[in-house]
Amino acid sequence: MSYSQSLSGNAYVSMRLRKPEDGRSPARVPIRVRKPERCGHTETVCSVCVGQWEVDYEIAWRSTGAARRLRAELDAQVTP
Ligand SMILES: [Zn+2]
Repeated sequence: MSYSQSLSGNAYVSMRLRKPEDGRSPARVPIRVRKPERCGHTETVCSVCVGQWEVDYEIAWRSTGAARRLRAELDAQVTP
């Protein structure tokens, strides 16, 4: 069983390092999604800090329910 399969897709976003330091193909890592007021912005992700995560990580927006919800939240925040 892989790590990601053991976790609920409703609580986690799958991310992958854009530039792994050892040059190998990076593994996807599950990062827990929290509400902004409960997020520490370092080990968990929320709509406030996801932009910072995206600097280093490629986010699989369509792979889990949590990712799709977070994406929808961000899209709703965009002001013209
Ligand atoms: Zn956060």
